[in-house]
Amino acid sequence: MSARVLVVDDIAANVRLLEAKLLVEYYEVLTANDGATALEIVADAMPDIVLLDVMMPGMDGFEVCQKIKENPATAHIPVVMVTALSEVSDRVKGLEAGADDFLTKPVNDLALFARIRSLVRLKRAMDEWRARESTFTQFGLNNAVAPEDTDPSLLQVLLVADEYGPSQRIVDTLSEEGYTIEHSTSTDEAAARALDGDFHLILVDDRVGGDDVLRFCSQLRSSGVTRHSPILIMLDDGDTERLAKAFDLGVNDYLVRPVNKNELTARAKTQIRRKQFEDNLRQQYEKSLTAAVTDSLTGLYNRRYLETHFEELSRDLRGGGKPISMLIMDVDHFKSVNDDYGHAAGDEVLRGLAQRVLSGIRGFDTAIRLGGEEFVVLMPNVEGRSAVVAANRLREMVEANPFDIDENDGTLGVTMSIGVATGPAGDIGLTDLLERADQALYAAKNGGRNRVEVADDLPAEPDPLPEAARA
Ligand code: GH3
Ligand code: MG
Ligand code: MG
Repeated sequence: MSARVLVVDDIAANVRLLEAKLLVEYYEVLTANDGATALEIVADAMPDIVLLDVMMPGMDGFEVCQKIKENPATAHIPVVMVTALSEVSDRVKGLEAGADDFLTKPVNDLALFARIRSLVRLKRAMDEWRARESTFTQFGLNNAVAPEDTDPSLLQVLLVADEYGPSQRIVDTLSEEGYTIEHSTSTDEAAARALDGDFHLILVDDRVGGDDVLRFCSQLRSSGVTRHSPILIMLDDGDTERLAKAFDLGVNDYLVRPVNKNELTARAKTQIRRKQFEDNLRQQYEKSLTAAVTDSLTGLYNRRYLETHFEELSRDLRGGGKPISMLIMDVDHFKSVNDDYGHAAGDEVLRGLAQRVLSGIRGFDTAIRLGGEEFVVLMPNVEGRSAVVAANRLREMVEANPFDIDENDGTLGVTMSIGVATGPAGDIGLTDLLERADQALYAAKNGGRNRVEVADDLPAEPDPLPEAARA
């Protein structure tokens, strides 16, 4: 999908020039000749990126940028200031207005396309999170996701740079902001540190480690822990080719040497804020996912999870000739627990039972609270006889360990009846398996409770040897 670029410049020739370059690369181009029109187009057409001239009569680029960034509906749209000015003070002014990047006129093609690719990629990732987030908001599963005011000392910055004067100044500047800083003087050392730190920002001087620096950045971008850490690279002014490559490898932003203090602070802040925002969305997402598939009383998975998990297992195990077993357990005379000791004690017993079940099964097995006082254990690659052994072990463990109920030192013994069913994994459906296990459970209840029964159609012949044993 081609990105939609809005070009804003009061001089028509400048607009045409940029437009022509972008069209050649198949971007969709929108144009505006003044700030007010630009803001209208931004609100209506939601471009993926805005290339914004700084000096315009009336509303200048700084003001336009600030308005885009102030509006929550458009704040996520990246803005690149296109300017004839190369004064550091102007860059800082742009950053303060919320600009994401700068290009100097005349615009170098390589720099232009690298910037657009990198910023659009970032925006797309954010769009995805925003979409998920709004879905959750609709379901009422979510709260505010704006980065809260975090204690800056909790924000960790990794500086990768030689041990020389400017590095110390960088450390000092970031320390003034209150961040916690780790300083590595080689890429190897930094790579080791990055393994166990969720850094909010990684600042890399491209003179460290020679030509390997870009490779190092790309490793950071692809490895687990640092995948989501913003990378800021420091390089020489005018090294456009290297910068373009850095952006393509996933570096988020850059600083030119000598590093200006205000620019460093502003860019670091922007990247850290972005990381916090993304982390927040990701955490909310994971939390919502967990909440949707978890039973709130016991912490076990719920029926909804059983359904999706069973489908996944079936897909994985289909045609492999492997069995899958299921236990359904139901607490015996649980109604009288509630009646005699109260509902709260009943809840306590259910929680305790869930823990016992969890501690009594293997890592590959899944425990689910099906509802009420009924639990299910799903056991992939387990044939019927082993499932019965496991069921009896669980049953005996529960029977042998009565619950402490705090008042008058009493203990409360409960027992469970368990139904077991087994079928060919991938071929048997969840409803079928549940039904058979339920019939077996019914037989266990009728047979006097506190016992394990097996569904009738358990294969009578011995189970086939596992692959390994046959070979
Ligand atoms: P049986 O041996 O035949 O299984 O008898 P039972 O009393 O366990 O079965 P029945 O289905 O008649 O009663 C189940 C009871 O479980 C009734 C219900 O109030 C109670 N129950 C269901 N969910 C909860 C819960 O979340 N907390 C508590 N405390 N009780 C629950
Ligand atoms: Mg019961
Ligand atoms: Mg019941």
